[in-house]
Amino acid sequence: MQRPSDRDEPGARPPESGRGHLGGSLAVTRERGAHFTHEVANQVTPLAGHNLYGTDRALRDALRFHAPQADDARLVALGAQMGDAAMQLHARLANVHKPSLHTHDRFGRRSDTVEFHPSYHALLGAAVGAGLHATPWSQGQGAHIERAAGFMMFTQLEPSVLCPVSMTYAVTPALRGNAAVFADWSDKLASTRYDPQLRFVGAKAGVTMGMGMTEKQGGSDVRANTTRAEYLEDTAWGRCYTLIGHKWFFSAPMSDAFLVLAQAPAGLSCFFLPRVLPDGSINAIAIQRLKDKLGNQANASSEVEFDGALAWLVGEEGRGVPQILEMGNLTRLDCALGTAGLMRGATALALHHTSQRQAFGKPLIDQPLMKNVLADLAIESEAAVALALRLASAIDKPNDPFEALMRRVLTPVAKFWVCKRGAALAQEAMECLGGNGYVEEHGEGVMARIYREMPLNSIWEGAGNIMALDLLRALKKRGGPGGDVVEALAAELGTARGANPQLDRFADALISRFHDAADGGGVSGLDEIGARRLARDVALAVQGSLLRRHAPDFLFDAFCRSRLGGDGPQVFGTLPRAVDFDSIIQRAMPH
Ligand SMILES: Cc1cc2nc3c(=O)[nH]c(=O)nc-3n(C[C@H](O)[C@H](O)[C@H](O)COP(=O)(O)OP(=O)(O)OC[C@H]3O[C@@H](n4cnc5c(N)ncnc54)[C@H](O)[C@@H]3O)c2cc1C
Repeated sequence: MQRPSDRDEPGARPPESGRGHLGGSLAVTRERGAHFTHEVANQVTPLAGHNLYGTDRALRDALRFHAPQADDARLVALGAQMGDAAMQLHARLANVHKPSLHTHDRFGRRSDTVEFHPSYHALLGAAVGAGLHATPWSQGQGAHIERAAGFMMFTQLEPSVLCPVSMTYAVTPALRGNAAVFADWSDKLASTRYDPQLRFVGAKAGVTMGMGMTEKQGGSDVRANTTRAEYLEDTAWGRCYTLIGHKWFFSAPMSDAFLVLAQAPAGLSCFFLPRVLPDGSINAIAIQRLKDKLGNQANASSEVEFDGALAWLVGEEGRGVPQILEMGNLTRLDCALGTAGLMRGATALALHHTSQRQAFGKPLIDQPLMKNVLADLAIESEAAVALALRLASAIDKPNDPFEALMRRVLTPVAKFWVCKRGAALAQEAMECLGGNGYVEEHGEGVMARIYREMPLNSIWEGAGNIMALDLLRALKKRGGPGGDVVEALAAELGTARGANPQLDRFADALISRFHDAADGGGVSGLDEIGARRLARDVALAVQGSLLRRHAPDFLFDAFCRSRLGGDGPQVFGTLPRAVDFDSIIQRAMPH
């Protein structure tokens, strides 16, 4: 990895208070001392050069529980790279120098290209090199959960380049719906070589993919899509159509291909849309403009129009929504994983800062009320890692019917709850850094990036309400050949039975809500108005049972005391006195 150059490179700054670099009259002025006010004291060192894996006990314990066979050495190496100061500089540069769109070349021809800073390519190359995209699909059991751990570490370095990484990971199962395309593309999707050149797949070392569902008139309600697909001919890749229409959000437009939805004669269908066609010509995907986003700056998100673009049917005509949701469910997993990683990153920054910053005569971390805030952040962060990794472990066992049911329930639950808590946690972690947390600068400026990224994970790929409503859909489909989701959930929660009376009461009440709904009044108990409350309660119950299994008792106990009584989690920093603050903080310290 090449070290980026920049005037703010760590180590390249002038000494802040030494005299050696000051010469001539300035030095004289300083020696006189009359007007010298620039003394820098009580500021913290940057959090850099630490190993994101080695210093994350919560992640390691959860990983060991779900995948004892995971390759620790690979994760240690990735953890070191993710904490490296040179990589942190890449992350800053890729966000400061935003991507720029070139719709036309200087002769007036359409070019539809996006130019990125070299640091963007360095970061995306590192993520692909680590196999965080489609690589796990061609590996054995444990690969998905190991990848999940890597994804959670990478996002702490830089989350926006993970957008194309996540979409490339998610596309594989859905793409199997067109066997001929899959045969030509799957090896290149799994390749760990990043190749940003615009060429046909056959000439590339590796490829990435994106997705296009959202249109101006609706994103959640994709059935309102207006893009039209007209059948053209049968080819080596199956049924080929021309697409006419637009997409309102189309991220990573420099990807090699996309799965998109369009209205075919038999209804909304899923299509494979490559940027370069088999004859080497460029497909008719016109990038209209890039979105001016709140965060996620290093990644380009665009608006596009298709004016007769060629695309190939994936799955059956009219079955586009379930087909593309095979992809959507995996990007939802990544929203939960990404947020859990960012929560860990924010918590680590808060712990690091407060361990060095003094106020009122001692380090902030020793002030009792700050201890309460920090311990609460640490509990939330560990609970998020536990839930997100539990979902990833279900992806790892595709042939296990019980895990299929857990995947169905936990996908909307984890996406909803982890993302909701992530935004709140980022605000509180930022506040631990005081004013420095709010400043866009190298080092603690990472906090601002985390804060801006959090709402995105909650909005895209199904915002909070859509996730809560999806949980209702899953719960209403009781029974069936695959088994019963409520029975599966009860079995999952049963693994922690007897460990904590609060958790037992909470889990029992939850399960009887489902049974009551089934016994009296059909599904009336599972109504839309209460869907968020239900999603929250399922998340809390599963988090409790997971922490029982792979977190120390002091953390499990504090989770149950603070999250399972009353009306759910409160503002951070309201843990009861009986909690073992010091042990929780010690466990979460990033060094
Ligand atoms: C940075 C960024 C990148 C993106 N990249 C892509 C991409 O690459 N490809 C792509 O296809 N999309 C992409 N999206 C779009 C994203 O997936 C949508 O914005 C999202 O699905 C919501 O759709 P919408 O914006 O149309 O909002 P709407 O569908 O109008 O929803 C607005 C709100 O209403 C709520 N709502 C909707 N229906 C109901 C209901 N029945 N009951 C209660 N509440 C409801 C939603 O939860 C949401 O909070 C991206 C978005 C962002 C911000």
